[in-house]
Amino acid sequence: MKKRLLTGLQPSGELTIGNYCGGIKQVVNYQDEYETFLFVPDMHSITVPQDPETLHRRVREIVGMYLACGVSGTKNHIYIQSEIPEHANLSWILECNAYMGEMSRMTQFKAKSEGKKEIGCGLFTYPILMTADILLYNADVVPTGADQKQHVELARNLAQRFNKKYGEIFVVPEPLIPKLGAKIRDLLDPTKKMSKSAENPKASIFLNDPEKVVRKKIMGAVTDSGEGVVYDEENKPGVSNLLTIYASFSNKTIPEAEKHFEGARYGDLKKEVAEVLVEFLTGLQDRFAQVMSSGIVDETLDRGRDEARAIASVTYDKARRAVGLGRV
Ligand code: ATP
Ligand code: MG
Repeated sequence: MKKRLLTGLQPSGELTIGNYCGGIKQVVNYQDEYETFLFVPDMHSITVPQDPETLHRRVREIVGMYLACGVSGTKNHIYIQSEIPEHANLSWILECNAYMGEMSRMTQFKAKSEGKKEIGCGLFTYPILMTADILLYNADVVPTGADQKQHVELARNLAQRFNKKYGEIFVVPEPLIPKLGAKIRDLLDPTKKMSKSAENPKASIFLNDPEKVVRKKIMGAVTDSGEGVVYDEENKPGVSNLLTIYASFSNKTIPEAEKHFEGARYGDLKKEVAEVLVEFLTGLQDRFAQVMSSGIVDETLDRGRDEARAIASVTYDKARRAVGLGRV
């Protein structure tokens, strides 16, 4: 039997080429190796204020984009967190077994609440909901970037504590350090990574950017002093980032890309980066439009919800019996 992997797709903004290189491509690789649970954590999204219409739209679009990028809707379980009530139900049971002390040590909470006058309780308890997301499906592994490491550690602690108290109910998940996908940097400040929630849209290439916009953003990308198209993260972060983008979208290695641009000027590099991006994005956007108008997103989400719920309800039932809720 394949091991189970679980990962979420945050609908916190329009997807960027960074999300494609470092996130979506990874899922395409995982889907053969693991039984993959891919869910949209919309309940996590409302820990910070959201416009309801935008949130509804993004949930469907993010699934549509994954499907258009080659993530299979039939091999994987793809579902929306809020459509499976067991997430909130198990979260409550776990909350009653978590301590204020350990929750107060979560660095992401500290960072996200700093300087705010009114802090939603959801922001504080969110790592417990995340624990429920993982434990409901007996996930063996959870791909974990640096920002989520502490939360996966909490999930392990809560699972172990619960099992010790009530019997072996949960699988204790392991973090999976993702194989390194290319890291794409901010076009205007290449010392930062490109991010879908960046303030200035000119700093990121979004997967649904029109051709003209892509060309304009790339031509406006920050380059470095001096000349010569060489990969040098420290002294030429802007040029190195453009080389990374070029290499990723033309399926070349960095040395191959450097060779390709021998003797070229920064302007030549930018033109060709824009060209490979436009070619990739035009094809992707065509597939995305087809996906969004075909009904496949809803079919996928309906099937995913039913598959996920069948698994989640078994785990939840064990947990609620173990603590004495409801009838035996
Ligand atoms: P946010 O600003 O909301 O945190 P984000 O763009 O950082 O958005 P995440 O939702 O945090 O995106 O991450 C989704 C996936 O995309 C993860 O697998 C993450 O590693 C990957 N990813 C995000 N940004 C980049 C980037 N610039 N380069 C490569 N991979 C990235
Ligand atoms: Mg992020």
